[in-house]
Amino acid sequence: ESFHDVDLGEIIMGNITLSRYTRPTPVQKYAIPIIKSKRDLMACAQTGSGKTAAFLLPVLSQIYTEGPGEALQAMKNSAQYPISLILAPTRELALQIYEEARKVAYRSHVRPCVVYGGADIGQQIRDLERGCHLLVATPGRLVDMMERGKIGLDYCNYLVLDEADRMLDMGFEPQIRRIVEQDTMPPKGLRRTMMFSATFPKEIQILARDFLEEYIFLAV
Ligand code: AMP
Repeated sequence: ESFHDVDLGEIIMGNITLSRYTRPTPVQKYAIPIIKSKRDLMACAQTGSGKTAAFLLPVLSQIYTEGPGEALQAMKNSAQYPISLILAPTRELALQIYEEARKVAYRSHVRPCVVYGGADIGQQIRDLERGCHLLVATPGRLVDMMERGKIGLDYCNYLVLDEADRMLDMGFEPQIRRIVEQDTMPPKGLRRTMMFSATFPKEIQILARDFLEEYIFLAV
């Protein structure tokens, strides 16, 4: 078992080495090939399982191999059009995902950004304006950014809902539906969607049914 079992590309392999990850964790071992094969995924995994790298590594690998397409050029408008969006329930988790994304995106053309509530929005807008290919966001702040015309999701080809059960517990379902079901977001089947959740209750099953296309279910 090694990260070399799947072709993640030179940049990612170099950054895995820099992070001192020697072996994939179980969720990484199973989720990475599924995401690389462009299937939607519903994964039940706990914090500490390595779930963040399980989606960041293959998503960034795909973005690199697909090259600078339409999406990378679209960022020239005043709004930013991330290729990948990761929704997380809290500022703390969003920052953790962002820090890991910076490591995985190191020495690449992909620029990660993070936005979350309870912090100065002006500073976050200025950071977005420097370019944003991968956005980590809490749902409420992202809706605010969209309403201000700072973020467009027209080119969002990779959507991740992390800790989906916690987002629902915190009452974010209306904001999440507003983000995912808006007209400009590529519809399911055209985008790739990955949901991660510690538990798999009825409400998460409904969200998976609505957001995922013929998904693979993974429990580790
Ligand atoms: P997560 O479950 O994504 O919050 O990750 C938990 C911790 O494990 C984080 O500090 C990661 O940096 C670390 N981690 C993730 N994948 C690996 C790996 N393959 N080997 C060693 N540490 C890892």
